[in-house]
Parts: sequence; C-alpha cells; structure tokens
Amino acid sequence: MTRKNIVILTGAGISAESGISTFRDTGGLWENHRLEDVATPEGFEADPHLVHRFYNARRAQLHEVAPNAAHFALAALERAWEGRGDFLLVTQNVDDLHERAGSRRLLHMHGELRRLRCTMCEETHPHAQDAGLELACPACGRAGTMRPDIVWFGEIPYHMDEIGAALGEADIFCAIGTSGLVYPAAGFAAEAVHNRRGCELFEINPNPTGVEVYDHVIAAPATHGMAELLRLLGVED
Ligand code: NAD
Repeated sequence: MTRKNIVILTGAGISAESGISTFRDTGGLWENHRLEDVATPEGFEADPHLVHRFYNARRAQLHEVAPNAAHFALAALERAWEGRGDFLLVTQNVDDLHERAGSRRLLHMHGELRRLRCTMCEETHPHAQDAGLELACPACGRAGTMRPDIVWFGEIPYHMDEIGAALGEADIFCAIGTSGLVYPAAGFAAEAVHNRRGCELFEINPNPTGVEVYDHVIAAPATHGMAELLRLLGVED
C-alpha cells in the first residue's frame, strides 16, 4: 500500500459539542470579553489581573468538560494510521481535550491553558490551578512575571517549522471546526495544496467558511463529520 501522510488542523469548533464556546459564533466576543482585552499582549499589559482571571475561568472549565466523539475519532484515526503514513494533529485550541481523548502526535500551536510562561526567562511550566501575579517563576525565581502560555494576537505561533515541514509532505489535509480567519493557520490548506503531492483536502464545519480550496466539504458538526471522514478514508472507528 502507498504511504499517505495526514495533517489535521482543529479549531474551537471541535470542542463546541463538549460545551466550550468558540468566539466567532458569539459575535466576536470570547465568553463576553473583547479579544483586545484578553487575547493580546497589550491587553495583558493594561490589566494583567483581568487577563489572569479570564484564563483561570477557562482553565477551571476544563474540569467540567470532556472530550466528545470527534476528539475520540481523531485519536482512533491516528491509531489506525500507524504503518500507513505519518500523522500529525495541529490544534489552535488551548484546551486539553485532544490529549484526554488519546491523541499522541499533537502540536498546540496557540499554547495551552494548563501551562504558564515567564515573561522574563520565557520558560514554560505546567500549571493546573488558578494563576496570578503573586506567582514566582519556578525557573528564574522572579515574582510577578508569569502569564498564561497562550499565543495572543500579534504573537508568533509555536511549532511553525515542524508544521510547515508536515504540510510540505501531506497527502491528506483536513481542517475541522476552524473559521479560516486566524492566520497563519488559515493559510495551511493553501500550503498543502501547493506542496506538489496532489494533496486531497477535507473540511468539516457546519457553517460555510468561504475557503475554496477544499475537495470535500463535510457540512456537519464535528462529531458527525468525523464519522464521515473516517468512512471516506476507509478507517473503522
Ligand atoms: P473560531 O471561533 O474563529 O471559529 C470556530 C469555527 O467552528 C466556526 O467556523 C464555526 O462554524 C465552527 N463550528 C461551530 N460549531 C461547530 C461544530 N459543532 N463542529 C465543527 N465546527 C463547528 O475558532 P478558530 O478558528 O479555532 O480560532 C479561534 C482562536 O480562539 C483559536 O486560536 C483558539 O486559540 C482560540 N479559542 C480556543 C478555544 C478552545 O481551546 N476550545 C475556544 C475558543 C477560542
């Protein structure tokens, strides 16, 4: 059998059926907050307490939610793909539902709620509880320097070299639950199209995104859409 490499990109929509809200679907607000206030370095500078409170609430919510059938189906696809080609899951999500569903080859390009980063030494650390400016950095010992390890608007996403290399070798690309508006992730489908491997492109989204490069658009919520994707790829769930 010819080997085929898969790259999957997920966005906030895959976690919607777990009860975590996306932001484009609620008029551009993220849990009633303006993105400028809670998802930019300027917002953090202006009011670090508000930003910590916001992410503390998002982090606490992780205890109340669980992976849904789409997260589990992606983990099943990864297992089924062993020996058939490379598999990489890239997520824009900062929740931990993919890892809790069993995904292994996973890159969090926008960071993780359950990590903090020191603004002075740049070290990141796992952190599952509430955070605030009173914390000291476990690496450099300075106090008042810890911020959520989230890539905010205007900052450079993580793992871009590794993602770019995987897109260059992808035979199958699938975007799930992402609006196609937030760059650089919004450009991944186009990158895969131009990789000269004849990459086949899939999209799963119940709403039209207006992105026109896809060969197959599965217009369904992620849980149903993933079942259809597995069928199209010939994988038993
Ligand atoms: P987005 O909010 O811009 O878009 C969400 C997309 O999901 C929309 O296109 C919508 O049509 C689609 N969608 C809604 N319900 C769906 C479902 N049941 N199944 C499949 N698709 C569904 O999200 P984005 O493109 O990921 O960009 C948002 C940014 O906000 C990300 O960078 C992320 O870091 C952050 N964010 C993360 C979370 C999370 O971690 N769960 C939640 C909100 C925002």
